[in-house]
Amino acid sequence: NTFAEIDLGDALNENIRRCKYVKPTPVQRYAIPISLMGRDLMACAQTGSGKTAAFCFPIISGIMRGPPAQRQRGSRTAYPHALILSPTRELSIQIHEEARKFAYQTGVRVVVAYGGAPINQQLRDLERGVDILVATPGRLVDLLERARVSLQHIRYLALDEADRMLDMGFEPQIRRIVEQMDMPPSGQRQTMLFSATFPKEIQRLASDFLYNYIFLAV
Ligand code: AMP
Repeated sequence: NTFAEIDLGDALNENIRRCKYVKPTPVQRYAIPISLMGRDLMACAQTGSGKTAAFCFPIISGIMRGPPAQRQRGSRTAYPHALILSPTRELSIQIHEEARKFAYQTGVRVVVAYGGAPINQQLRDLERGVDILVATPGRLVDLLERARVSLQHIRYLALDEADRMLDMGFEPQIRRIVEQMDMPPSGQRQTMLFSATFPKEIQRLASDFLYNYIFLAV
Protein backbone atom coordinates (compact mmCIF):
# COMPACT_ATOMS: atom_id res chain seq x y z
CA ASN A 1 0.00 0.00 0.00
CA THR A 2 3.00 2.30 0.33
CA PHE A 3 6.29 2.49 -1.56
CA ALA A 4 8.18 1.88 1.69
CA GLU A 5 6.77 -1.68 1.64
CA ILE A 6 8.17 -2.41 -1.83
CA ASP A 7 11.85 -3.34 -1.81
CA LEU A 8 13.26 -1.40 -4.74
CA GLY A 9 16.68 -0.93 -3.15
CA ASP A 10 17.64 1.64 -0.50
CA ALA A 11 18.78 4.42 -2.85
CA LEU A 12 15.67 4.24 -5.03
CA ASN A 13 13.33 4.00 -2.04
CA GLU A 14 15.04 7.11 -0.64
CA ASN A 15 14.56 8.99 -3.94
CA ILE A 16 10.89 8.01 -4.02
CA ARG A 17 10.57 9.51 -0.55
CA ARG A 18 12.35 12.65 -1.72
CA CYS A 19 9.85 12.95 -4.60
CA LYS A 20 7.10 12.78 -1.95
CA TYR A 21 5.49 9.73 -3.50
CA VAL A 22 3.88 7.78 -0.66
CA LYS A 23 1.11 5.71 -2.17
CA PRO A 24 1.44 3.98 -5.53
CA THR A 25 -1.15 4.96 -8.14
CA PRO A 26 -3.30 2.04 -9.43
CA VAL A 27 -1.07 1.33 -12.44
CA GLN A 28 2.02 1.45 -10.19
CA ARG A 29 0.43 -0.82 -7.57
CA TYR A 30 0.01 -3.64 -10.11
CA ALA A 31 2.70 -2.99 -12.72
CA ILE A 32 5.67 -2.70 -10.34
CA PRO A 33 5.26 -6.11 -8.63
CA ILE A 34 4.62 -7.79 -12.00
CA SER A 35 7.83 -6.28 -13.39
CA LEU A 36 9.85 -7.09 -10.27
CA MET A 37 8.75 -10.72 -10.73
CA GLY A 38 10.37 -10.59 -14.15
CA ARG A 39 7.17 -10.87 -16.17
CA ASP A 40 6.46 -8.99 -19.39
CA LEU A 41 3.63 -6.52 -19.23
CA MET A 42 1.13 -4.80 -21.48
CA ALA A 43 -0.58 -2.03 -19.56
CA CYS A 44 -3.39 0.35 -20.25
CA ALA A 45 -2.31 3.76 -19.00
CA GLN A 46 -3.26 7.34 -19.73
CA THR A 47 -1.16 10.44 -19.20
CA GLY A 48 -1.29 11.39 -15.54
CA SER A 49 -1.71 7.80 -14.33
CA GLY A 50 1.84 7.62 -13.00
CA LYS A 51 3.02 5.30 -15.77
CA THR A 52 6.49 6.88 -15.93
CA ALA A 53 7.32 5.69 -12.42
CA ALA A 54 5.60 2.35 -13.15
CA PHE A 55 8.22 1.50 -15.76
CA CYS A 56 11.17 3.47 -14.33
CA PHE A 57 11.18 1.93 -10.84
CA PRO A 58 11.58 -1.73 -11.88
CA ILE A 59 14.16 -0.76 -14.52
CA ILE A 60 16.30 1.31 -12.12
CA SER A 61 15.96 -1.32 -9.40
CA GLY A 62 16.94 -4.12 -11.79
CA ILE A 63 19.93 -2.21 -13.15
CA MET A 64 21.17 -1.40 -9.63
CA ARG A 65 21.17 -5.14 -8.89
CA GLY A 66 22.79 -6.11 -12.20
CA PRO A 67 26.28 -5.74 -13.72
CA PRO A 68 27.40 -2.24 -14.79
CA ALA A 69 27.10 -1.25 -18.46
CA GLN A 70 30.18 -2.04 -20.50
CA ARG A 71 32.07 0.11 -22.90
CA GLN A 72 34.77 -1.39 -25.08
CA ARG A 73 38.04 0.49 -24.74
CA GLY A 74 38.57 2.81 -27.66
CA SER A 75 35.04 2.22 -28.90
CA ARG A 76 32.54 5.04 -29.18
CA THR A 77 29.60 2.67 -29.05
CA ALA A 78 27.36 2.85 -25.99
CA TYR A 79 25.77 -0.35 -24.64
CA PRO A 80 22.77 0.65 -22.52
CA HIS A 81 20.93 -1.96 -20.44
CA ALA A 82 17.53 -0.36 -20.76
CA LEU A 83 15.69 1.43 -23.54
CA ILE A 84 12.61 3.58 -23.10
CA LEU A 85 11.01 4.47 -26.43
CA SER A 86 8.64 7.43 -26.53
CA PRO A 87 6.83 9.14 -29.40
CA THR A 88 7.89 12.78 -29.00
CA ARG A 89 10.72 15.01 -27.96
CA GLU A 90 8.56 16.59 -25.23
CA LEU A 91 7.60 13.25 -23.69
CA SER A 92 11.20 12.00 -23.91
CA ILE A 93 12.46 15.08 -22.07
CA GLN A 94 9.79 14.62 -19.41
CA ILE A 95 10.62 10.92 -18.91
CA HIS A 96 14.33 11.74 -18.75
CA GLU A 97 13.80 14.39 -16.08
CA GLU A 98 11.74 12.04 -13.94
CA ALA A 99 14.06 9.08 -14.44
CA ARG A 100 17.05 11.21 -13.41
CA LYS A 101 15.36 12.14 -10.14
CA PHE A 102 14.58 8.50 -9.43
CA ALA A 103 18.15 7.45 -10.34
CA TYR A 104 19.83 10.15 -8.22
CA GLN A 105 22.88 8.72 -6.42
CA THR A 106 22.13 5.19 -7.56
CA GLY A 107 24.97 5.17 -10.08
CA VAL A 108 22.42 4.49 -12.81
CA ARG A 109 23.04 6.85 -15.73
CA VAL A 110 20.14 8.11 -17.83
CA VAL A 111 20.60 9.75 -21.24
CA VAL A 112 17.98 11.18 -23.61
CA ALA A 113 18.15 11.36 -27.42
CA TYR A 114 15.43 12.87 -29.61
CA GLY A 115 15.10 14.27 -33.10
CA GLY A 116 14.70 17.91 -34.10
CA ALA A 117 17.74 18.89 -32.06
CA PRO A 118 21.50 18.84 -32.79
CA ILE A 119 22.93 15.36 -32.30
CA ASN A 120 26.36 16.43 -31.00
CA GLN A 121 25.40 17.03 -27.38
CA GLN A 122 23.52 13.72 -27.36
CA LEU A 123 26.61 11.94 -28.72
CA ARG A 124 28.74 13.48 -25.96
CA ASP A 125 26.20 12.40 -23.33
CA LEU A 126 26.26 8.85 -24.70
CA GLU A 127 30.06 8.78 -24.63
CA ARG A 128 30.08 9.55 -20.93
CA GLY A 129 28.19 6.32 -20.33
CA VAL A 130 24.56 5.27 -20.30
CA ASP A 131 22.56 2.62 -18.49
CA ILE A 132 19.08 3.80 -19.46
CA LEU A 133 18.51 5.42 -22.84
CA VAL A 134 15.31 7.40 -23.36
CA ALA A 135 14.79 7.95 -27.08
CA THR A 136 12.42 8.71 -29.90
CA PRO A 137 12.45 6.01 -32.62
CA GLY A 138 13.79 8.15 -35.50
CA ARG A 139 16.78 9.53 -33.59
CA LEU A 140 17.60 6.11 -32.20
CA VAL A 141 17.70 4.59 -35.71
CA ASP A 142 20.13 7.37 -36.64
CA LEU A 143 22.35 6.54 -33.63
CA LEU A 144 22.25 2.82 -34.51
CA GLU A 145 23.27 3.57 -38.11
CA ARG A 146 26.20 5.63 -36.83
CA ALA A 147 27.10 2.70 -34.51
CA ARG A 148 27.05 5.07 -31.54
CA VAL A 149 24.54 2.88 -29.73
CA SER A 150 24.30 -0.91 -29.63
CA LEU A 151 21.21 -2.68 -28.31
CA GLN A 152 22.96 -6.01 -27.75
CA HIS A 153 22.89 -5.62 -23.97
CA ILE A 154 19.32 -4.40 -23.57
CA ARG A 155 17.67 -6.22 -20.68
CA TYR A 156 14.71 -3.87 -20.24
CA LEU A 157 12.58 -2.40 -23.00
CA ALA A 158 9.72 -0.01 -22.29
CA LEU A 159 7.44 1.28 -25.05
CA ASP A 160 5.57 4.34 -23.81
CA GLU A 161 2.42 5.57 -25.56
CA ALA A 162 2.77 2.76 -28.08
CA ASP A 163 -0.49 3.65 -29.85
CA ARG A 164 0.74 7.19 -30.43
CA MET A 165 4.05 5.92 -31.81
CA LEU A 166 2.12 3.80 -34.33
CA ASP A 167 -0.19 6.72 -35.21
CA MET A 168 2.92 8.76 -35.97
CA GLY A 169 4.12 6.07 -38.38
CA PHE A 170 7.00 4.74 -36.26
CA GLU A 171 6.19 1.05 -36.61
CA PRO A 172 8.98 0.29 -39.15
CA GLN A 173 11.55 2.09 -36.95
CA ILE A 174 10.33 0.30 -33.81
CA ARG A 175 10.62 -3.07 -35.53
CA ARG A 176 14.14 -2.28 -36.77
CA ILE A 177 15.10 -1.24 -33.25
CA VAL A 178 13.74 -4.34 -31.53
CA GLU A 179 15.32 -6.62 -34.18
CA GLN A 180 18.74 -5.39 -33.04
CA MET A 181 18.28 -6.62 -29.49
CA ASP A 182 20.28 -9.76 -28.78
CA MET A 183 18.54 -10.77 -25.60
CA PRO A 184 15.56 -13.00 -26.37
CA PRO A 185 12.18 -11.89 -25.02
CA SER A 186 11.96 -15.11 -23.02
CA GLY A 187 13.81 -14.83 -19.75
CA GLN A 188 16.62 -12.42 -20.55
CA ARG A 189 14.90 -9.36 -21.93
CA GLN A 190 11.96 -7.90 -20.09
CA THR A 191 9.48 -5.82 -22.06
CA MET A 192 6.78 -3.40 -20.93
CA LEU A 193 4.30 -1.93 -23.38
CA PHE A 194 2.14 1.01 -22.30
CA SER A 195 -0.73 2.21 -24.42
CA ALA A 196 -4.01 4.06 -23.96
CA THR A 197 -5.79 2.02 -26.66
CA PHE A 198 -5.45 -1.56 -27.91
CA PRO A 199 -6.21 -1.78 -31.63
CA LYS A 200 -5.10 -4.82 -33.68
CA GLU A 201 -1.72 -3.22 -34.49
CA ILE A 202 -0.85 -2.86 -30.80
CA GLN A 203 -1.90 -6.43 -30.09
CA ARG A 204 0.35 -7.56 -32.96
CA LEU A 205 3.30 -5.62 -31.50
CA ALA A 206 2.60 -7.20 -28.14
CA SER A 207 2.55 -10.73 -29.53
CA ASP A 208 5.77 -10.05 -31.47
CA PHE A 209 7.76 -8.33 -28.69
CA LEU A 210 6.39 -9.65 -25.41
CA TYR A 211 6.79 -13.10 -23.91
CA ASN A 212 4.03 -14.72 -21.87
CA TYR A 213 2.85 -11.28 -20.82
CA ILE A 214 0.34 -10.08 -18.29
CA PHE A 215 -2.30 -7.64 -19.52
CA LEU A 216 -3.07 -4.94 -17.02
CA ALA A 217 -6.12 -2.71 -17.36
CA VAL A 218 -6.69 -0.37 -14.43
P1 AMP B 1 2.80 10.34 -15.38
O1 AMP B 1 1.47 9.71 -15.66
O2 AMP B 1 3.89 9.33 -15.25
O3 AMP B 1 3.14 11.43 -16.37
O4 AMP B 1 2.72 11.06 -13.92
C1 AMP B 1 1.82 12.12 -13.67
C2 AMP B 1 2.26 12.97 -12.49
O5 AMP B 1 1.98 12.31 -11.25
C3 AMP B 1 3.72 13.31 -12.46
O6 AMP B 1 3.85 14.68 -12.13
C4 AMP B 1 4.31 12.43 -11.37
O7 AMP B 1 5.43 13.04 -10.76
C5 AMP B 1 3.14 12.30 -10.40
N1 AMP B 1 3.13 11.00 -9.69
C6 AMP B 1 3.32 9.78 -10.25
N2 AMP B 1 3.19 8.81 -9.32
C7 AMP B 1 2.90 9.40 -8.15
C8 AMP B 1 2.66 8.90 -6.81
N3 AMP B 1 2.66 7.61 -6.52
N4 AMP B 1 2.41 9.82 -5.84
C9 AMP B 1 2.38 11.14 -6.13
N5 AMP B 1 2.60 11.66 -7.36
C10 AMP B 1 2.86 10.81 -8.37
